[in-house]
Amino acid sequence: MAKQKTLHDAFYETLKDVYYAEKQSVKALKKSAKAAEHDELRQAFETHAEESAQQVERLTQVFEIIGKPARAKTCEAMQGIVSEMEEDLEDFEDSPAADAVLAACAQAVEHYEIARYGTLKTWASQLGYAEAATLLDETLQEEKKTDALLSKIAESINTAGTPEDAEPSKGKAKKAA
Ligand code: FE
Ligand code: FE
Ligand code: FE
Repeated sequence: MAKQKTLHDAFYETLKDVYYAEKQSVKALKKSAKAAEHDELRQAFETHAEESAQQVERLTQVFEIIGKPARAKTCEAMQGIVSEMEEDLEDFEDSPAADAVLAACAQAVEHYEIARYGTLKTWASQLGYAEAATLLDETLQEEKKTDALLSKIAESINTAGTPEDAEPSKGKAKKAA
C-alpha cells in the first residue's frame, strides 16, 4: 500500500504552491503599478510589491523551519488569475475603466493569498510550528490590509461612465498627461 500522506505533506505542498503564487504576485504588482493612473492605486501597488518581496523571504524562512528545500510548484489558480489580468489589461488599456479593472484583478490575487495563508497558518499551528504560524500570520495580515485598502480605493476611482461622472468636479482620477 502506498504511504499515507500526512498533514505535514499537505503543508509542504501548499507552501510550494504559495511560494510560486507569491513570486507571481510580485511581478503582477509591478506591472499593475506601471499601468495604474490613479496615484493612490499606484502607491498601493508599489507598497504591496515591496511587502510581497518580503513575504517571499518569509516563506523561505518557513521552508527552513520545517527542514525542507524552498521549492515552487506551479499554482494554476494564480496562473489563471494572472492571465485574466493580462487579458483585462489589454482589453481595457487606456479606457476610463482601466484602473477599476486593475484594482479588481489585484483583489482576486489578494483573496487567493488570504485563502492560502489562512490555511497554512492553521496547519502550522496544528503541526507545532509556532514560529512558522507567526510568520504566516504576518503575511496574512498584510494581504487582508491590502485587500481592504484596494476596496477603499476602488470607491474613489474611475467614475467615468457612471452617473456620478455627470458632476464635473468628480471622477477625474486620470492625470492630465
Ligand atoms: Fe502576498
Ligand atoms: Fe494554488
Ligand atoms: Fe498580496
